[in-house]
Amino acid sequence: MYGEILETVKQIPVVDSHEHLAIPSSYTAPREPIAFLLRGYFPSDLLSSGISQKELQTLQNDEVSTEEKWPIFRKYWVKTEHTAYAREVKHIMRIYDEETVTLESLKRLSQKMDRLTGDRIVEFLESLNIKAALVDILGSLETLKRFIKGEIKLPECYKPLIPLPIFHEPVRSLYNIQSIAEVAGRTVTCLDEFLEAVKEIFKRLKEHGVVGVKDQSAYYRRIDFKPSTREEAEQLFNKCLKDPNNSLGWPEVKPLDDFLFHEYMRFAKNLNLPVQIHTGHMAGIRNRVDKANAAHFIRVLELHQEVYFDLFHGNWPYMGDLLFLAKNYPNAYVNLCWVNIIDPIYSVNLLERAVVTIPHKKINGFGGDYFAPEMVPAHLSQARENIAYALSNLASRGWISKTEAVNLAADWLYNNPNELFKLGLKPYSP
Ligand SMILES: [Zn+2]
Repeated sequence: MYGEILETVKQIPVVDSHEHLAIPSSYTAPREPIAFLLRGYFPSDLLSSGISQKELQTLQNDEVSTEEKWPIFRKYWVKTEHTAYAREVKHIMRIYDEETVTLESLKRLSQKMDRLTGDRIVEFLESLNIKAALVDILGSLETLKRFIKGEIKLPECYKPLIPLPIFHEPVRSLYNIQSIAEVAGRTVTCLDEFLEAVKEIFKRLKEHGVVGVKDQSAYYRRIDFKPSTREEAEQLFNKCLKDPNNSLGWPEVKPLDDFLFHEYMRFAKNLNLPVQIHTGHMAGIRNRVDKANAAHFIRVLELHQEVYFDLFHGNWPYMGDLLFLAKNYPNAYVNLCWVNIIDPIYSVNLLERAVVTIPHKKINGFGGDYFAPEMVPAHLSQARENIAYALSNLASRGWISKTEAVNLAADWLYNNPNELFKLGLKPYSP
């Protein structure tokens, strides 16, 4: 059953529901194979196994030879080669017919690996049957400015999102406030003018094709956005205006950060843009996951009923909280970006339990969450396997038929994100 379902799943077109991906015109890939391979998530497991930052930097340096890197790489590879992140490396080796990771196989890889250039990224995504990718790619004020001016042209299949943290996280000093307003060509003298400037920026971004909003402030704060009062927020904002040398720290700034976040949810509603939220595990090591639990986000889900929220990463490791939220709130969606490769067993389990607890139209099945496009195939194949496992398990216990299983896979991988983000692609039926 698994094998049969997997073969059909491989034919289904994909809407990749979260990527970072390089802006094609500025993309280059490393030449040295270890540097080439360490552009995904495996470096986090190397750190977790005890490698030092300095050693990792050596491995990621394209100028250092494979021979010189090998003793360092081998020392930590043997400690962590069985994780799902390590499978990312193994999978890419296997694409080039290399079954083991040795100095010799890496040297052969350097002769064979397909280093993409910017102009070939789209063709590469097409070869993976990816029809569109939601990309968080506009993450600096400079990039936003150029994008609004039409100086950055993205390929048709790139569907960009508004990078929300840069509109609230740095709002702690006059300099930052004016830098944000400057994207709309304005200067501001009060909170209202600042909000007007951000509203204008969002409007122009929508005119330039953004399909949603993305927020990952869980990296620096608990995602319990409280509905703070305008007075509280204004007081903090004015503290920045009063003296260019003032800057607000955490947690002093929290009521302002909360206030802005809720305002921006209203902007999202008015512009009819779904909002993607980072929940659960964070990239890198030594961050605290408890603050990123989607359970903290409940107030936002309750209040902003007309905004659709796409909750990321399976909320790993808090599956139960995520299932509850998606079952209980019509505006809460589940996005399995990244989690498919953080923890495949958890992902299979999440998908199975999602089928029996949550409307299946609220599940978005795959997002690579990469900068380097060459890493996407490893993750996509892991996601397809997870989906096939979950569906064959449900089919073997008689919960769904094989035809229903394949229809579910088509919804998860393609139809659901296409509908939620109004991409306008032709619906797919297997
Ligand atoms: Zn991401």
